[in-house]
Amino acid sequence: MIRVAGRLLNGAMDTKAFKRSLNSSENYHRKGFGHEAEVAGLMQSEYQSNLIQQIRDNNFTWQRGNVTVRLAEAFGFCWGVERAVAMAYETRQHFPTERIWITNEIIHNPSVNQRLREMQVGFIPVIDNQKDFSEIAQGDVVILPAFGASVQEMQLLNDLGCKIVDTTCPWVSKVWNTVEKHKKNQYTSIIHGKYSHEETIATSSFAGTYLIVLNLAEAEYVAHYILNGGDKAEFMAKFSRAHSEGFDPDRDLAQIGIANQTTMLKGETEQIGKLFEHTMMRKYGPDQLNQHFLSFNTICDATQERQDAMFNLVEKKLDLMVVIGGYNSSNTTHLQEIAIEERIPSYHIDSADRIQPGNQIEHKPLGQPLIVTENWLPEGEIVVGITSGASTPDRVVEEVIEKIFALKTAAVC
Ligand code: SF4
Repeated sequence: MIRVAGRLLNGAMDTKAFKRSLNSSENYHRKGFGHEAEVAGLMQSEYQSNLIQQIRDNNFTWQRGNVTVRLAEAFGFCWGVERAVAMAYETRQHFPTERIWITNEIIHNPSVNQRLREMQVGFIPVIDNQKDFSEIAQGDVVILPAFGASVQEMQLLNDLGCKIVDTTCPWVSKVWNTVEKHKKNQYTSIIHGKYSHEETIATSSFAGTYLIVLNLAEAEYVAHYILNGGDKAEFMAKFSRAHSEGFDPDRDLAQIGIANQTTMLKGETEQIGKLFEHTMMRKYGPDQLNQHFLSFNTICDATQERQDAMFNLVEKKLDLMVVIGGYNSSNTTHLQEIAIEERIPSYHIDSADRIQPGNQIEHKPLGQPLIVTENWLPEGEIVVGITSGASTPDRVVEEVIEKIFALKTAAVC
């Protein structure tokens, strides 16, 4: 639900028809505004790093003193994020005097979001866990972030007469098209994602009937229910915040299609797809599978490449891993999971400022609040693995590496 000046808007609508009409509106912009060259220069100076380029050119390895850094062979800004940030910069240039808002963090990176604040881009306030659009006025420019916005938000902004700059990544739009297909054919969308993540909120707003599963364990629970039935009250309680209104597991799991949040672990999304395919085959027989199961490949290439690069990196000898990215960044968290599975000490930080003098680091263990660890860099020669999520600029990775070199140099002196 969305609150605007005290009004509550709820969402039953023909989402496809709405998107079609929005696409043809002169207030809706999905491409840049012709300032690409200027913006590319700005982004180069603000986010790129000479050191990181040198490390890339040196087979992703760099040694200084008794520290060897190994970078993952794919990390950092993906093209969808780069595109979204560039469009936000272009928006400021194109609308120099208008009020500009963004419905959420453009990407999950504190330094990029801070830079937008400095450019006088306002973030829609959140009050009691609900966005408050009451300050938004006709003629304001509103940017939709890389992971999209719910269709109800788009409708609201359109009704208010705002200029909408939609930076939604095409990979995310592809998932929206997938759930639209499920809806058209009256299949329930099983979405592999986090129900509170903005991208999944947006995706579910385009779906008809849907159920969101977080991981393989939840998917197995649902598959078991499909095959054997079960305790409906328990099912509803387990997924209380993760299903469409009026969802009934006894009625709505006979025809299902798979969709995903683009930043989930690729292997897990594939496993979940296979699990439901087998489940429906067992329940209805192979010749009836197509009447009960739909699957399209909607795993984003960039997520896949970063995860594959991480799997390669953790095969090498590493003393520890530093994973850099926003704390609410789903793809960064998944990179950290890979390090943990390999039992490599790993530190998830969102900026170089988390590395503090005296060999201290403030970091976020998986699923836990921030903690400070002392003496995190071992003595003597060390090999440090480094990767970063799709929202992290190279400049931030450079700052982290320089801090590690400096700490180790200080320890030797
Ligand atoms: S991670 Fe993938 S889906 Fe997300 S913004 Fe990047 S390219 Fe797009």
